[in-house]
Amino acid sequence: MSEIPEIPNIDAINWARQYGDEIIIRVYGEHYKGASVLIAQAYLKGWTYPELVKAIESNYSCPPDIAKTIASTEMTRAHTNAELMMEQRYFEMFGEHLVPIWKTCNDEHVCDFCRPRREQPITDDIYPPAHPGCRCMLSYISEGYLTPEQQEKWNNRPR
Ligand SMILES: [Zn+2]
Ligand SMILES: [Zn+2]
Repeated sequence: MSEIPEIPNIDAINWARQYGDEIIIRVYGEHYKGASVLIAQAYLKGWTYPELVKAIESNYSCPPDIAKTIASTEMTRAHTNAELMMEQRYFEMFGEHLVPIWKTCNDEHVCDFCRPRREQPITDDIYPPAHPGCRCMLSYISEGYLTPEQQEKWNNRPR
């Protein structure tokens, strides 16, 4: 993901504030402690992607490519968690689960881990971003919209 959604995403903001740093330290190291605050701010203030990259770069005096990786990967993670919370609310309201689908970019740069997951229902609790620099996305759809192949995988999921 390289663009920040235009509407402030409250779930993503809250998630980044509460849990973001634990993951950021684990993935990128102690040096980047507090970066989740910048992710939350990006959502809150509607920063563009370059603005977020700049903020990370200047706060942590890090090379632009690291700032870019953190910005896009962690925006994706905040988005995924907002989607998970949305699905939970949907389930509470309608008593029916939506199906998580793994979306990849449509280009040749998708890695060997992510490529086989393209358009597949997620049944193993692994959600994007799969790794730093992963550009995949989580998208929920209603079970009625699954293709027969997706439906079969979804029916055979471990429960
Ligand atoms: Zn990948
Ligand atoms: Zn990926």
